[in-house]
Amino acid sequence: MELGLTVGRTLAEKILSARSGGEARVGDIVIAEVALVFVQDTTGPLTVRQFQAAGFERPAASIKAVLFLDHAAPSPNRELADDHSFLRGFARQTGCFLSDVGDGVCHQIVAESLARPGDLILGTDSHTVTAGGLGAFACGMGSTDGAVALGLGKTWLRVPESIRVVLSGRFSPGVYAKDLIIYLIGRIGADGATYKALEFGGDAVSTMSVPERLTVANMAVEAGAKVGLFPADETTRDYLTAQGRGSDYQSLSPDKSAIYEETIKINLAELEPMVSRPHTVDNTAPARELRGTEIQQVVIGTCTNGRLDDLAVAAKIVEGKRCCSRTRLVVAPASRGVLLAAVEAGYIRTLLEAGAVILPPGCGPCLGLHQGVLGAGESCLSTANRNFRGRMGNPEAFIYLGSPATAAATALKGEIADPREFV
Ligand code: SF4
Repeated sequence: MELGLTVGRTLAEKILSARSGGEARVGDIVIAEVALVFVQDTTGPLTVRQFQAAGFERPAASIKAVLFLDHAAPSPNRELADDHSFLRGFARQTGCFLSDVGDGVCHQIVAESLARPGDLILGTDSHTVTAGGLGAFACGMGSTDGAVALGLGKTWLRVPESIRVVLSGRFSPGVYAKDLIIYLIGRIGADGATYKALEFGGDAVSTMSVPERLTVANMAVEAGAKVGLFPADETTRDYLTAQGRGSDYQSLSPDKSAIYEETIKINLAELEPMVSRPHTVDNTAPARELRGTEIQQVVIGTCTNGRLDDLAVAAKIVEGKRCCSRTRLVVAPASRGVLLAAVEAGYIRTLLEAGAVILPPGCGPCLGLHQGVLGAGESCLSTANRNFRGRMGNPEAFIYLGSPATAAATALKGEIADPREFV
């Protein structure tokens, strides 16, 4: 405590204080101003109907409102095509921004183009937490709450308790941010942070790139967290500047005397490649212990690990080699920008030459709607964030989660591999 004057604030308390115009402390119910509300194509139609049923005609003038067509893009059937048409029509009527088929996954585009440190962001999708990697209080909400926020430009929230995750050391070669978050979820469990803010700090944060932070924040919800939050620092500024929006930057860090419910310490140097086994994310094991597990499909992409750095890591591992003949490698870049940059860098050519199938930017096979549904008894190693039974379209299939490096190594071997063998 600072000279006994005031108790400092966590990142969650700081952001919600600023957005609600008052002192927001753990347990308080606040009404806060929202900067961005977005929907995607599987939750959007219901959100729009709720919005209309509530009597709203247009989104609140104070917010950015975006409709993303990403989960089933291009549409795999007539029902989803009709949903797309419905959302396109709503965008025309109301002036909402439309991110159409081929632009990419909502969370990636939010990070690239929309999220700012200190923003309150609501999306009708649980992985809205991704933007916490840029220091935004970003969380998923149901369609009705999303509709009300869209109409009013405000929402209510209970200020969450915060768990501080103190990171030290550096990742060893072959170990990545994905391994960190899988390790953390395995340690605290799928309900280990229910309605808490997971706040990442410590010396190692400054060594982590924004894409790495986005990967970690993305999976905070897999431990039940309301948000996963990183401070906004020089790395954040550099990322925003590279995206052409350096003026969106503001520095953001928790007070030294902030009070946390719990502190968890992790030395990155002690981590190794990790895998989540079927059928829960917290069912974790080191990749080396799963060697020999045959895999029929590998997926590299999604809002967790479909960024340029992820494709670069995978391309480097498969360069000049061919994927195992028993294993399909499916690659879905997270956004149009990622795909363009990966083409320019030669990663797409390398992946194609190794035998990969390249999908359009979007969610791809992540949620089992199309573009890589698994067969009965098949096993997949994916860089996504969820491996629940049936997630990829078949309850009789098995999903393992790992980093892009683990995925690429696995595609070469046809069985789960430890990527340190290739790095
Ligand atoms: Fe959801 Fe997967 Fe799309 Fe991410 S990539 S938004 S987890 S369906």
